[in-house]
Amino acid sequence: MNVNDLLAKLHANLPAENTGVVASYIPELAHVDPTKFGVHAVTVDQREFCFGDSDEGFSIQSIAKVLSLTMAYQRENQKLWKRVDVEPSGTPFNSLIQLEQDKGIPRNPMINAGALVVCDVLLDYLAEPRKDLLAFVHSLSGDDSIGVNERVAASERETSARNRALIEFMRSFGNIRNDTERILDFYCSLCAIEMTCSQLSRTFLFLANQGVSPFTGERIVSTSMTKRLNAIMQLCGLYDEAGEFAFRVGLPGKSGVGGGIVALRPRDYCVAVWSPPLNYKGNSHFGMAFLEGFTSEVGDSIY
Ligand code: GLN
Repeated sequence: MNVNDLLAKLHANLPAENTGVVASYIPELAHVDPTKFGVHAVTVDQREFCFGDSDEGFSIQSIAKVLSLTMAYQRENQKLWKRVDVEPSGTPFNSLIQLEQDKGIPRNPMINAGALVVCDVLLDYLAEPRKDLLAFVHSLSGDDSIGVNERVAASERETSARNRALIEFMRSFGNIRNDTERILDFYCSLCAIEMTCSQLSRTFLFLANQGVSPFTGERIVSTSMTKRLNAIMQLCGLYDEAGEFAFRVGLPGKSGVGGGIVALRPRDYCVAVWSPPLNYKGNSHFGMAFLEGFTSEVGDSIY
């Protein structure tokens, strides 16, 4: 069976009813059609496969945290781990609970607290943060059309009480330097980046190719840094469902509340799936089920 047919078959095998619920705490995300489903896979030797709404843009949300982390890691190297740890949190993405006992050092860069610290770090380096971020995304994907959905960014900005609380709490421990509103602006733009499944899988392909862009041959991060970024995704990318994701799918991956999940197999391929309804842990319900079928059927997880 060819891969496109396999993707269609795996989609047909999903349950008839999706028990997930589209995210509504960011009002603009609640308008998304829950029946949308897309998947796109690309190999390091640039073979591409797709099914469904793979060319429709969606809000990548927390998936973008890997991109900002990559930019901060490029600039700070090992120094970065003084400001944010690399341990799985076992808590929801927006939890405040561990920060007090951890003295303002977030458990990892995939939860909101960690991503906000990463944004704070980047504001010390980037002359034009949003422009520089998009330039990085364009260079990774080879696609200059990728941008920020302004309505989503504004909607997220208006409902950012919890993220503001995280910033101020970390500031009380001395782990935040920049103005809260600047950090929030940058963070909300980051989360509101819109991509299609095909743009997303291409953007992340360097992490399956030992840190080198397969499209341009440019080295983005070292082999050792790639190992670490993939390890962080594996252990923390799906928050308090990271264990379940490793157990069922067996790949480093990152989810977002827009219903996207990107996952990759080192030296092999990257796959992006999008289905908006989320399970109670905030991860795409059908996205997880689909990827579980994908690695089980093809037998190519990392385990
Ligand atoms: N922008 C979202 C927030 O801060 C990101 C959450 C997510 O995708 N898990 O709440």
